[in-house]
Amino acid sequence: MSTTTTISVRNTAQSRLPQYDSKRIVFGANPTDHMFLAGYENGCWQRPRIEPFDNLVLSPLALCFHYGQTVFEGMKAFRQANGGVAIFRTGRHWERLNRSLDRMCMPQIPETLFFDALHSLIRIDQDWVPSEPGTSLYIRPFVIATEARMGVKAADNYLFAVICMPAAAYYEGSIKVKVETEFVRAADGGAGTAKCGGNYGAAFYPTMLANQQGYDQVIWTDAKNNEFMEESGTVNLMFMIDDVLVTPPLSGTILDGVTRHSLLTIARDLGMAVQERKISYHELEAAFKEGKRVEAFGVGTAASLVPIGTIGINGVDYFPDVSARARLYRLKAALLDIQTGKVPDRYGWNDIVVPGIQHN
Ligand SMILES: *Cc1c(COP(=O)(O)O)cnc(C)c1O
Repeated sequence: MSTTTTISVRNTAQSRLPQYDSKRIVFGANPTDHMFLAGYENGCWQRPRIEPFDNLVLSPLALCFHYGQTVFEGMKAFRQANGGVAIFRTGRHWERLNRSLDRMCMPQIPETLFFDALHSLIRIDQDWVPSEPGTSLYIRPFVIATEARMGVKAADNYLFAVICMPAAAYYEGSIKVKVETEFVRAADGGAGTAKCGGNYGAAFYPTMLANQQGYDQVIWTDAKNNEFMEESGTVNLMFMIDDVLVTPPLSGTILDGVTRHSLLTIARDLGMAVQERKISYHELEAAFKEGKRVEAFGVGTAASLVPIGTIGINGVDYFPDVSARARLYRLKAALLDIQTGKVPDRYGWNDIVVPGIQHN
């Protein structure tokens, strides 16, 4: 990372920030003033630039509309206790983006381009990073095929874009999920580990059916046996069964979540017993029936840790512990303390964009 990218900047004539009410954040509806764009042509990334947030102009022939070459990341920047701004684990998200791009036969984003894009954009829009407890700036890098020539093939031209939006504390309360044993999200050898658009489009229909049965989300099970629990919506799964934290392994069919990895690291350091292993819904059902103490939660960047209050298994609802004594809240608080710079960054996870005021 010796070189830096020369990024041209066109500033907005009028910031929308004064009209924006940070006390009433509607997620996804209020992009910041600017966006980052770069195009891929003739085998390299060209014209990196920051422009006022605006609509994109694409040909209806552009391949992203037809054959699914779309890949994204979901990341967050946090207002630090010292007033600065830091992105959480930029490097790990960059590595995953490139793995997703590889799987979808799309060009890699060089490390310098990725870091410089995010840093320049967030420095320009830094006043959009909220400071109320639990809030953050959500960052959405994405890459789409833009080549304007119809044909079932990997495109020659792409767009790399980064947009940002303030995010409120995600969700208070717990969610109700159902173990899905009919529909499948990902199979061995498929694209389940890639954060590519098609994985989400294919999940809506089974999720809608679950909604009609009164559940917020489904827990996907493996494609072979419909038995081993994988993940849910856009979160990885964690269970606390008696005193052991159990999470499904990175089998090739689930997303390698940055939140998952961070929480496993923190849990091990707190001295918790951690197991990354397959867990079937039969085992979970038995744990409930035997009266074991069970906690269940979804973990992901957007949601942080979401307590699961109800799990439906073959038509019977079970109720994990979501009371204040649940240990998941301790993990959630420990993660947020690191992300917001309230405790020393002992893992080197905070990528500082705007330095704060140092107190020594
Ligand atoms: C993004 C995502 C996750 C969570 O990953 P994080 O890096 O923690 O945000 C889990 N599962 C799926 C399907 C996802 O898309």
